Amino acid sequence: MAEIKRRKVAKPSPYIIEINNVTKIYRDSSNAAAGGQHALHNVSIKIEPGEFVFIVGESGSGKSTMIKLLMRELTATEGTINVMGYDLGHIRHRKIPKFRRNIGIVFQNFRLLPDRNVYENVAFAQRIIQKSNKDIRRNVPAVLARVGLAGKYKAKIKHLSGGEQQRVAIARALVNKPSILLCDEPTGNLDPKTTWEIMKLLETINEQGTTVIVVTHNADIVNSMQKRVITLDKGVVVSDEEKGGYIDED
Ligand code: ADP
Ligand code: MG
Repeated sequence: MAEIKRRKVAKPSPYIIEINNVTKIYRDSSNAAAGGQHALHNVSIKIEPGEFVFIVGESGSGKSTMIKLLMRELTATEGTINVMGYDLGHIRHRKIPKFRRNIGIVFQNFRLLPDRNVYENVAFAQRIIQKSNKDIRRNVPAVLARVGLAGKYKAKIKHLSGGEQQRVAIARALVNKPSILLCDEPTGNLDPKTTWEIMKLLETINEQGTTVIVVTHNADIVNSMQKRVITLDKGVVVSDEEKGGYIDED
């Protein structure tokens, strides 16, 4: 007992995310005979609570692999990943749902239920964690107001614009009050004006206290927002800059 208690309080990390010397190899890929596909190679990244971080890099550079490792959809082949105090190489399976509750995730293709309305799509995330109807009736309108959709809660997803759909997805990701919001190319399907609005929304969410990590290809946005920028190239971190810009490969 004493040992378990001691381990729980040991070494509080100043980082909300700590990736140490992580290599990820997809062993079962088409080139398995050659030892598998190297997606990340010896990656080390530390992120403090409250940071806003862009992850950029060409297609295939390992950005989505990094996101999947952070949400423990994948495990590292080598190295260690610590997220919110969870050692993801050793987390018990029954603890994974509780861990994921503290991470919101947003994808390029929204992944909403198209025939359901806005309210239902967001409430769904609360039902999964067994929130009471009373809580849901309070939390869902509050988060919809936060993403600028207060008047739309009865609209069916398929009748919304792309930008509105992504706002719903962001509301769904936020409704359980995660510490970290992971976004994998959240504006990949949106026009430039809407892209800008969604990025501003993510910036506001960050200013309200959530650690936000955004994978993007959009050099204009990255250059003008002046945030930390981590650049991946073929699975290697080639730069990590405060108030950085997008490195043009051409
Ligand atoms: P990005 O998101 O930057 O485009 P990914 O992380 O999706 O890059 O992919 C990095 C590398 O790993 C690519 O070479 C890709 O083909 C490979 N890869 C991604 N997922 C798998 C998988 N499930 N099996 C095998 N190889 C994969
Ligand atoms: Mg990707």
